[in-house]
Amino acid sequence: MSGASGEYLDLTRARHQPLGWAGTIGIAALPRLASVVADTSGLASAKVHAKHDGGQITVQGKVEANLLLTCQRCFRKMEFPVNTDFNLAWVRNETEAMNLADVYEPLMSISGRVNIAELIEDELLLALPMVALHAAPQKCDLGVRDIAPPVAAEPEVDPPNPFAALEVLKRGRH
Ligand SMILES: [Zn+2]
Repeated sequence: MSGASGEYLDLTRARHQPLGWAGTIGIAALPRLASVVADTSGLASAKVHAKHDGGQITVQGKVEANLLLTCQRCFRKMEFPVNTDFNLAWVRNETEAMNLADVYEPLMSISGRVNIAELIEDELLLALPMVALHAAPQKCDLGVRDIAPPVAAEPEVDPPNPFAALEVLKRGRH
């Protein structure tokens, strides 16, 4: 119903009354994110609230999306659910950003006009892993065998067994 493309929050208005936005946006409409995910067909949903708080304008909210990334171990798609909260404060320059209380991340804008889609995209990009990998390496193993069965597989090296030495000791006693 609601799409964030082209929608703005005017943070100057939040001085007088709280502002809110809630809706969804297609991943495909977020170009920086779309260029790094394996599939752009999904949606991101978000809630954003801006209000005057302690002498500054804070922008808080939540972004959710079930992203599909490419596992860098097996190069198959992997689901990467994002459910992230953000706690920002509007700053107009570097000095304001440096003086910000630690609980806030700076939201830099000279005019106070914040593109909602870009805000959502920033939060999703921040939530991405440095390197996308299946959490369980076994999932990758399955994928690799599907594509290229190991023909001349190297003999598996047994991991060192801490009980092996114990076995030797036990046998020695009998
Ligand atoms: Zn993998």
